[in-house]
Amino acid sequence: MTERLWAPWRMQYVSSAREQPEECLFCARAKEPCSAENMVLLRGKHAFVMLNAFPYTNGHLMVAPVRHTADMNDLSDEELLEVMRLVRESVNLLQEAYRPDGFNIGVNLGRAAGAGIADHIHWHIVPRWNGDTNFMPVLADVRVIPDSLENTYAKLHQVLSQRDGNGPDS
Ligand SMILES: [Zn+2]
Repeated sequence: MTERLWAPWRMQYVSSAREQPEECLFCARAKEPCSAENMVLLRGKHAFVMLNAFPYTNGHLMVAPVRHTADMNDLSDEELLEVMRLVRESVNLLQEAYRPDGFNIGVNLGRAAGAGIADHIHWHIVPRWNGDTNFMPVLADVRVIPDSLENTYAKLHQVLSQRDGNGPDS
């Protein structure tokens, strides 16, 4: 029943993002505190981590710089460093929470590469398990979502909360 209650909310989240293409999802989330509602899990000074509303697997996370840019060349060394630190932190969190067998980490640069939000660069962190699929359909519309986003957020938030001085700011 929880899944059914959760699904309409998720669809609203998705459609609202699509109906307002002029408002960048990452810019909007970058201003908000970490919460299960907006799926922002962890925040740094220049970058932040959030759950992907269209996860390819359980625990699919995204790391985006706070600043709106599509170009890696626009990012300062400081910004890039924090993005990479949050990518590393995301991997560590997922490792602890889900014990995956591997990870796919990467960026879809440009719409031709399948970027959903091409104007605001973001890194995908996708945990993988032996036998989940032969090849990750990163750009395809095929997704397997065995767990709800709420459950995923709660699980990762719990791992995060158990760490010293590294918790989310909510
Ligand atoms: Zn943006």
